[in-house]
Amino acid sequence: MTRSPSPVWHPFTQHALEPVTTRIVRTDGAYLIDEHGRSILDAISSWWVITHGHRHPAIMEAIRSATESFDQIIFAEYTHEPAEELAQGLIRLAPPGLAHVFYSDSGSTSVEVALKMALGFFHNRGCSRSRIVVMEHGYHGDTIGAMSVGERGVFNAAYGALLFDVDTIPFPAPGHEQETLDAFEQLCLGEEVAALLIEPLILGAGGMKMYPPHLLAELKRIATRYGTLFIADEVMTGWGRTGTVFACEQAGITPDILCVSKGITGGALPLAATLCSAEIFDAHLSSDRSRMFFHSSSYTANPIACAAALANLTVWQNEPVLKRIETLEHMHRERLTPFRSDPRFVNVRQTGTIAALDLDVSTSGYLSDVGPKLRAFFRQRDLLIRPLGNVIYLMTPYCVTSDDLDRAYAAIDEAADVIGKAQK
Ligand SMILES: *Cc1c(COP(=O)(O)O)cnc(C)c1O
Repeated sequence: MTRSPSPVWHPFTQHALEPVTTRIVRTDGAYLIDEHGRSILDAISSWWVITHGHRHPAIMEAIRSATESFDQIIFAEYTHEPAEELAQGLIRLAPPGLAHVFYSDSGSTSVEVALKMALGFFHNRGCSRSRIVVMEHGYHGDTIGAMSVGERGVFNAAYGALLFDVDTIPFPAPGHEQETLDAFEQLCLGEEVAALLIEPLILGAGGMKMYPPHLLAELKRIATRYGTLFIADEVMTGWGRTGTVFACEQAGITPDILCVSKGITGGALPLAATLCSAEIFDAHLSSDRSRMFFHSSSYTANPIACAAALANLTVWQNEPVLKRIETLEHMHRERLTPFRSDPRFVNVRQTGTIAALDLDVSTSGYLSDVGPKLRAFFRQRDLLIRPLGNVIYLMTPYCVTSDDLDRAYAAIDEAADVIGKAQK
């Protein structure tokens, strides 16, 4: 067993098997540059946060400029321009009908806030609804509440005793969509369901599992029919990943609660927002203090992070981001085509800027050793690609070039021969 001299404990890392040795000294566009000057293509946007590219000049400048006036400011009793302007901007950009913005600092906290908003809504109306419905294979973060609403497995087996109980509807696999809808409707009939919490169009950490917009629209219709709140976790899907700014747009729906984080600052600084309808805010509005929303993080609405997010909104407004995304979608589509008839792969799929394919091996699942083997294979080729078990996916920053993608796809092709065959 190897033991690193560093005291740092890294996330999702088995230190005994995988010493963390690559030290990054700079980021640039689609690349990470290490201490030896090697340029590594960041083909997963540094865990899905970097949208336009690393260190977008306008966002970096907004951060520098904000530090001339701000650090952290308490966000109860006081407010500030970056948070106010950002809230207006988010409401303008989000699906129509969302009216209020609650800030926190990570995707997980945006989900915790959403769950508390939903339960607070019913509690303050004197209604006992408190069940949460989630989708099989869902992922919503790693805090205790967020784990409770996510897929149970090896990731959270040790913490099971602390997780609360939820109702799960099956993933709408092709040909089985009706079962998902029926399961949801059946649960709603019991009149105890407070909210459906769902990742729209793609279940990310659960294996880049994709389903079509019409199903999302149908789930929303059922939720509305039974007075169940609809929470869209767009922490990963937001900011253009699926081809539109938000995935919900493709279904033509407005959720009652919308969680955003990751790309909200273009990936430059941690920030999250939970947007909600006027109805949910109003259920907390009262002369009675016991009905206020009991939630806060120390760093709520950090002004520098809000300034970065505002600059990101300006980038979306001033630059042809959607055009870039369309081009990237097209580049993936072309390169995925030969893999569709390649027997070494199954489930070749794409939603917007996200491309995924499963290496056809006998062992799958997150802990199968094919994942680490693939990672090492890609790392040797200066590619940051982290398969989820045998699921290989690319989710690059939008500034990636066609040459970069050619290199990534060539490596995937080669990996199937070197690692796929050995695994059979
Ligand atoms: C990443 C992610 C989260 C958690 O966000 P963190 O910032 O890592 O806490 C929640 N939901 C989805 C869909 C995610 O992809």
